[in-house]
Amino acid sequence: MPTDSQNPEISVSDLLLYINCPRRVYFVSRGYELLPEINASRLERMLLKELSLNYSEIVKKCSLNADNLYKELEAALDQAYKDLPLMFPGEFARTEKGALEEGDARARAKIPEIAANLLRGLEEYGKDSMLAALTPIKTEPIISSARLNLKGVPSKIVCFEGVNVPSIIKPGNCPVQGVWASDRMHAVSLALLLEAESEKEVPFAFVEYVSFGLLRKVTIRTSDRREVLKICRRVEKIKAGFMPEKTEEKFCKECTFSEHCVSNSSLLSKFF
Ligand code: SF4
Repeated sequence: MPTDSQNPEISVSDLLLYINCPRRVYFVSRGYELLPEINASRLERMLLKELSLNYSEIVKKCSLNADNLYKELEAALDQAYKDLPLMFPGEFARTEKGALEEGDARARAKIPEIAANLLRGLEEYGKDSMLAALTPIKTEPIISSARLNLKGVPSKIVCFEGVNVPSIIKPGNCPVQGVWASDRMHAVSLALLLEAESEKEVPFAFVEYVSFGLLRKVTIRTSDRREVLKICRRVEKIKAGFMPEKTEEKFCKECTFSEHCVSNSSLLSKFF
């Protein structure tokens, strides 16, 4: 929604849009819709996210046995497939059956790898440690800070080694080591918010790569904090009306805003 305020309120999702392409922040803040439909790939991600919210329950009741783990994951995915249309009725009403079936098949194909990696994690770190990192003490809480002029929703807050930290669920690809730069920014922005709310330092966060059943710990560095604060100030400026240069080409092909998005010089030529 357009705003004339000098400091429009910003959210962590704005920061993520900015990292993809600063112009997306501009369009979304002016009411353009980013994800108009549920296709197979989006449904796959939604299913895997719902599945991952069950990992802690599954790990709790399973003995360390690949067969048990596999069956429990399949049952949880079946349940997620039934529940999602109840959670997003409007969007699912507009979705074709073929896309639903393809998304389900894609998510199901990930189960063997998820089971194998969860099992490996359990063997490497121990059940107690894995459970602490996976079990939410809060799921999708809204946290905000007037000082940061920022709000956000971590997938979970978990209590690990006595500290409450944010955990984010990512259904996409997983790097060989560590986390993607954009996921680091996502985790750090939520750690900053949690710090502001709890008034306690949050030294790390978790990223769950749910398509793979892998959990990665992110140490929060000063340089990360600086980068998040810098992005916040830039996003504020865009939401206040500044149109950034069109520089990002990587995402343009599949971008829902491509027909509205012309270079700044072309835009000016329309008026002068
Ligand atoms: S079309 Fe390209 S430059 Fe324009 S908003 Fe989309 S990704 Fe950004």
